[in-house]
Amino acid sequence: MDPVPIPEATPPRRATLQASVRWGAHVVTVGGDAPVRVQSMTNTDTADAIGTAIQVRALAQAGSELVRITVDTPEAASAVPAIREQLDRMGVDVPLIGDFHYNGHTLLTQYPGCAEALSKYRINPGNVGKGAKKDVQFAQMIEVAARRDKPVRIGVNWGSLDQELLASLMDANAAAATPLPAQQVMYEALIRSALDSAARAVELGLRPCQVLLSCKVSGVRDLIAVYRALSRRCDHALHLGLTEAGMGTKGIVASSSALAVLLQEGIGDTIRVSLTPAPGEARTQEVVVALEILQALGLRTFVPSVTACPGCGRTTSSVFQELAQQIDVHLRARMPEWRARYPGVEGLRVAVMGCIVNGPGESRHADVGISLPGTGEQPAAPVFIDGIKRHTLRGDDIAAQFIDIVNRYIEQRWGAPAAR
Ligand code: SF4
Repeated sequence: MDPVPIPEATPPRRATLQASVRWGAHVVTVGGDAPVRVQSMTNTDTADAIGTAIQVRALAQAGSELVRITVDTPEAASAVPAIREQLDRMGVDVPLIGDFHYNGHTLLTQYPGCAEALSKYRINPGNVGKGAKKDVQFAQMIEVAARRDKPVRIGVNWGSLDQELLASLMDANAAAATPLPAQQVMYEALIRSALDSAARAVELGLRPCQVLLSCKVSGVRDLIAVYRALSRRCDHALHLGLTEAGMGTKGIVASSSALAVLLQEGIGDTIRVSLTPAPGEARTQEVVVALEILQALGLRTFVPSVTACPGCGRTTSSVFQELAQQIDVHLRARMPEWRARYPGVEGLRVAVMGCIVNGPGESRHADVGISLPGTGEQPAAPVFIDGIKRHTLRGDDIAAQFIDIVNRYIEQRWGAPAAR
């Protein structure tokens, strides 16, 4: 027998410097031995302090550990302290990251309340100015960060890549004896922009651990290639994300494909899933997807998992689909309360299966599993607890009975022992 190696419980992580992103006593570590962090970004007008604070709270409650907000105008910069105060009043201590382009040097220097209320600054080296102004304006932002002890992310994006750098690399490549394909020159320009800016930030006074990097592109294979190379060339913590991932299923699949490959290789210290919400869709969807990616890879556990079969011609009705959905909704809805009351409950595994073919087997692998009757089977649903058949449910209220069994299992396994 040629034994297949058992994968490590958690994919090994690449060693990176660790940054601390703080608000008050709340510290979110990023990189090093910290878990991969989930980030998100608001899409409200930052000048609308209340609306932005409400959306930040929703993103934080969904599981976002860092939230980025656009800071693009004097009005937005003026609103940042009010957003922070509103969040503090609501008991939300999630650190805020300011996203700056073009005028960040002006806003960070002229609005000290904004500079202080933010816990981290995102600086796009392609958008800090042109010609001689570029170095000066970049330095102004870094000096504010160093003086206030704030980490920064040097966030390169191929949609706003430093054109002067790209042009100089293209010229050098054209003059080379064996020129590289233009795509490789573009990869190099992305990476060089990030690394050169990081080195400059350190020269200007930031500690290396205070500098995080990202090089976002919108192609899955491009992102994987760029981050593999970037991770070999520095030890800064890396923020991962497929930029402009798109809407709905396409955006989710593209982001998951790219991030899964890199995270499985130990590359990535924070992630953001840049989904375009459908009209009326909650902004929190991007957080839900990010949590699911980390949980699916075994990197972190946030909510109990529900294993459900897809159903097929053996499925007699939509009963098992409805039950799978009900139990999933029930578990997610109760998690805010359960997380505090039942430490470890996020590791619960529930199975909801559609027939006898795989139902009992899969249910035995779960903590609590139910195998519903398929076509032609007896109208009875065996329930397995810790691999042993314990109940057989019948009747019209199987869902309620099963949820009750799951609730009791959680209480018995993770509830505090009764006082003697
Ligand atoms: S467990 Fe049964 S119902 Fe579900 S997919 Fe398999 S054969 Fe079909």
